[in-house]
Amino acid sequence: MKELKINSEFLPTRCEICHQSDVFDPVSNCCSRCKKIEIIQSKNISSKTIKTNRIRVLSIIGTILTWVIGCGVYAYVSISNFLSMPDIEPGYESTWDFQLAMFFIFRFPILLIILIIVVGLEYHFLGKAKGGFKFTK
Ligand SMILES: [Zn+2]
Repeated sequence: MKELKINSEFLPTRCEICHQSDVFDPVSNCCSRCKKIEIIQSKNISSKTIKTNRIRVLSIIGTILTWVIGCGVYAYVSISNFLSMPDIEPGYESTWDFQLAMFFIFRFPILLIILIIVVGLEYHFLGKAKGGFKFTK
């Protein structure tokens, strides 16, 4: 590949946004007309993004907390129901520790998959809600 040769260098002559040269300063590459617009835009975008992220984080925390409480209640109810059955064999099968271990092996993975799906959907749809805030102030 041939080397690129620069013949001459010069400063920009006009603004990249409004394509005007009247209030454009080539040295600082700054247009006093468009400087304000850029600042306002970046401020709006960042506050909206923060708002969306806050809603997203709060609802995901809410979901996880609900899930944790739900898992605890479900484990407690299902294990105590099992242990109160009349034909249960005495020994390790009738202990809380063993039944809790069984719960974590057989039930917990399914509950975990459900949580991951719900949080994934929340993350996806609340991220899309960003467009809904676009024209509100
Ligand atoms: Zn400009």
